[in-house]
Amino acid sequence: MTQLTDAGQKVFNARYALRDEQGHICETFEQAVSRLARVAASAEKEAQPHWEEKFASIIGDLLFVPSTPIWANMGKPDRPWQPSACFVLAVEDTLYSMYETLLSTALVFKSGGGVGYNFSTIRPRGSLVQSTKGKASGVVELIKLYNASSNMVMQGGVRRGASMGILNIDHPEIMNFIHAKLDGGLTNFNLSVGVTDAFMQALEQGEDWPLIFNGEVHDVLPAAVLWQSIVQSAHACGDPGIIFLDTIQKANPLPHKQLNCTNPCGEQPLFPGESCLLGSVNLARLIAEDGRINRALFKDTVSIAVRFLDNLIDVAEYPFPLIAEATRATRKIGLGFTGLADALIKAGLPYDSAEGRKYAGEIIELMQQSANDTSRALAEEKGCFPEWENSKFHPAEKIRNGTCVTIAPTGSVTTMAGCEGYGIEPIFAVAYKKSTNVAGDFEVFSPLFLEACQLYGVSNSILEEVARRGTCQGIKEIPVEIARIFKGAQDIAPADHILMQAEIQKHVDNAVSKTINLPGAATTEDIETCYRMAYSLGLKGITVFRDGCKEGTVTVGRQED
Ligand code: ADP
Repeated sequence: MTQLTDAGQKVFNARYALRDEQGHICETFEQAVSRLARVAASAEKEAQPHWEEKFASIIGDLLFVPSTPIWANMGKPDRPWQPSACFVLAVEDTLYSMYETLLSTALVFKSGGGVGYNFSTIRPRGSLVQSTKGKASGVVELIKLYNASSNMVMQGGVRRGASMGILNIDHPEIMNFIHAKLDGGLTNFNLSVGVTDAFMQALEQGEDWPLIFNGEVHDVLPAAVLWQSIVQSAHACGDPGIIFLDTIQKANPLPHKQLNCTNPCGEQPLFPGESCLLGSVNLARLIAEDGRINRALFKDTVSIAVRFLDNLIDVAEYPFPLIAEATRATRKIGLGFTGLADALIKAGLPYDSAEGRKYAGEIIELMQQSANDTSRALAEEKGCFPEWENSKFHPAEKIRNGTCVTIAPTGSVTTMAGCEGYGIEPIFAVAYKKSTNVAGDFEVFSPLFLEACQLYGVSNSILEEVARRGTCQGIKEIPVEIARIFKGAQDIAPADHILMQAEIQKHVDNAVSKTINLPGAATTEDIETCYRMAYSLGLKGITVFRDGCKEGTVTVGRQED
């Protein structure tokens, strides 16, 4: 059993530990590990103690970290056993459906999940409402309503509900949607435009693009005008991102159904009503001293983790029957990893290098192979997912899970596991200044960076300079061996962020959560280059973030508490 770091223990106490009736913590990390292992093993028909021990061992050693709802809910006497972080819900173009989905959303938030919606079914603002002869308020008003509700319903009692709103590029209200976050509202929503290959072609050829609802053309605009509006909004406020609908559909395990929506952070495409549970393998703990991955332990961990996640689908208590049905029909799981940055640093490889990408690509390829091998073996043992006969796998390949691999943002679980890099992100920064009311200003350094500096005898005055600048790049006293591998998100060129995302996406069944960081001085052309590059490299989606474009966000080199 591994000891949590102080920060890890804080996350555990605040979010995951069982509490008594007075709200006092009454569970240790070790006890929580047993709770999770026991509940997952209870789905086994045979050898429950054997599996319980296997599950406890990978989780207790922090080789595998299940995501937040699993820790917060599973096996607790006072919570529904709801393991999924990701949900997608349908909204139809009726007042009843809009409010029904809002209620469903509240129930999903309460159980610890985030929700995505594709709003393209909703009639555009200003359309006629037959029953009242009034004007429809449209998509953006609906998003405002849902956003306000997130403020009220705390997710699992811990955090505010996060949502994803998607609108397809041919919807007549698309301009309103593209501009929806410019005035700083809708903070609980990520917005993405659903873009098709046909649109990208129209853009390439300088053509016009029709905006259509229910077969009726409402307007026609040059594709370039829509595209420029997306780029300008993203430059100003980070939203909207883009999801590439045809690329997502190509990887859809049930090709006869349209897949046009994802969960809040974009890593998990799902059908309406479907949910998915996540878990991450901790690379920081699977890398040997020489920087190479411990292949045997890695494959073993992946295999046990797949079984763990698959078992939880059987014992889960979903918020309502539609979700249980849709989730169990495809049995999607999302296993990924965290701590890629830690692994690259240990291997001495720059994040923004061809060797770094090759290293990351080999790890994710091995993960996908091992996860799929396990899911195929599970199909032999326990049966395929119910929709398998209608899936792309039939008839060659029996498999238990519609999808196996997803790269999540891993916000809380990375801190609990004590690694530095979230998911596939580089480290945030090697150092920054933290200002607090209580302790005043002080410097926070990346522990791996500090370790390397001590090894090379970097003086305190140089470290202070690093903290002041928020980077060790361009400081001549910093040894090159350190400067080449210790690059924060802002030290890495946007194109290199995208190249890493693309390398990983090649071996991910679902999608990859990743932020493409740009400096504050980046232009709209820079954003456009990112979006075009994402499309041509086959990404399923892209989100950019220009430093400082959202008020109150952390800027490297100066972080407020
Ligand atoms: P964790 O590390 O807490 O397990 P992640 O940061 O990896 O979670 O997020 C995984 C998914 O969990 C998100 O993509 C989203 O679907 C869901 N989620 C739920 N609540 C939130 C929230 N408040 N903020 C962000 N994501 C959330």
